[in-house]
Amino acid sequence: MLTGEPVPVEKSQGATVIGATMNGSGGLVIRATKVGSETVLAQIVQLVAQAQRSRAPMQRMADKVAFWFVLAVFAVAIATFFIWGFMGPAPSWTYAVLNAVSVLIIACPCALGLATPMSIMVAMGRGAHVGVLFRDAEAIERLRRIDTVIVDKTGTLTEGKPAFRTAIPVSLTEDELLRLAASLDQASEHPLADAIVAEARRRNLVLEAPDGFESSTGIGVRGRVAGQAIAIGNTALMKEVGVDPAPLGADAEKLRLEGASVMFVAVDGALAGLLAVADPLKASTPAAIAALHAAGLSIVMATGDGLTTAHAVARVLGIDEVHGEVRPQDKIALVQRLRAQGHRVAMAGDGINDAPALAGADVGIAMGTGTDVAMSSAQVTLVKGDLRGIIRARAISAATVANMKQNLGFAFLYNALGVPIAAGVLYPLTGLLLTPMIAALAMSLSSVSVVANALRLGTLDLDQ
Ligand SMILES: [Mg+2]
Repeated sequence: MLTGEPVPVEKSQGATVIGATMNGSGGLVIRATKVGSETVLAQIVQLVAQAQRSRAPMQRMADKVAFWFVLAVFAVAIATFFIWGFMGPAPSWTYAVLNAVSVLIIACPCALGLATPMSIMVAMGRGAHVGVLFRDAEAIERLRRIDTVIVDKTGTLTEGKPAFRTAIPVSLTEDELLRLAASLDQASEHPLADAIVAEARRRNLVLEAPDGFESSTGIGVRGRVAGQAIAIGNTALMKEVGVDPAPLGADAEKLRLEGASVMFVAVDGALAGLLAVADPLKASTPAAIAALHAAGLSIVMATGDGLTTAHAVARVLGIDEVHGEVRPQDKIALVQRLRAQGHRVAMAGDGINDAPALAGADVGIAMGTGTDVAMSSAQVTLVKGDLRGIIRARAISAATVANMKQNLGFAFLYNALGVPIAAGVLYPLTGLLLTPMIAALAMSLSSVSVVANALRLGTLDLDQ
């Protein structure tokens, strides 16, 4: 739970266990040393809450604008009233009331009030169409300014589930090696075994029922398939069955450096080959990382997984900065450090261990394929966990903010023209005055044009 690794980590006597630790076989005595608010999970919840509380509320563009707008309109209306009252033609106080009311009506900030919510609403709808769910307007406003993306590895860059990588046979054919191993592995519930069985099924190999299946946690499995003694596991298991895995040692080391888990296979007391399983990259990841790089963003990987695997994945994707073996509190510390250096940071992750960092980043981006905790801590969810969604979200953010500015600009321009006319500045020259009725009509039309402009966001082109 705390590292997000795709393969279970073995525990032995005396080890500390946390939520999501599973008892594979045999008896287990656990002593609770921390309960309630002292548990690791409660502390993560605490970190999330703290990060959310410490967010400075963003003062919205429209709020700032509205504050001065309201003051200005009242000032103009009051001035109109007195100027007409004291200096206007008779009946001067009737003119004063009508014109002051016209000013207030034409300045009714409907367009101003609609300017940003309409853009945000249409943008959220557009995002939902392409698998990007925004939880709040703030995320839309902030995303375009992001310059750094911190990514989790397992489940974010990768599928988060081990899959067959390669088989190196010694004596048998590759299919036969896989068939024997998968036949035995059918009896195992280990994720690595599941990956082997899935690959055998994909190749339509005919599996046989194993006999005398025996599993030693952390070492491997043994049993008989069609009369042959099969052992699948690590070097320790090979020693136990009297097989020297040295001929495959170099291959195994190379695969491990690439981040794969390696299992040796022995058949009837002889080395038959090795099988490698690894957590594959999502198909969309390389394109997404390349696009983020092209957009000038720097990408930092922070994973609870070991450094070997972390570097292996980072090398393939061209990610320059890698942090491995990080705990949940380290992830949020990294976010805070980068923010303190003046970076605007987005965090993308899927796990419980990512939750504090998701809540603490300028924008938290959760994978829809991940945990509920991650999604509720983040402001943006990528529905299928497709990282290209970040690029789309940024495009939506930039277009939406531009649209909001156009709307605000329009609402302003409109008032800058309408309010003086309603106040009667043209009266001395042309005798033109707006009745409150005409003012109301004009005010409505300005709202319509703001809505129409916002709707253009719905057809935003996002196919990169
Ligand atoms: Mg993860």
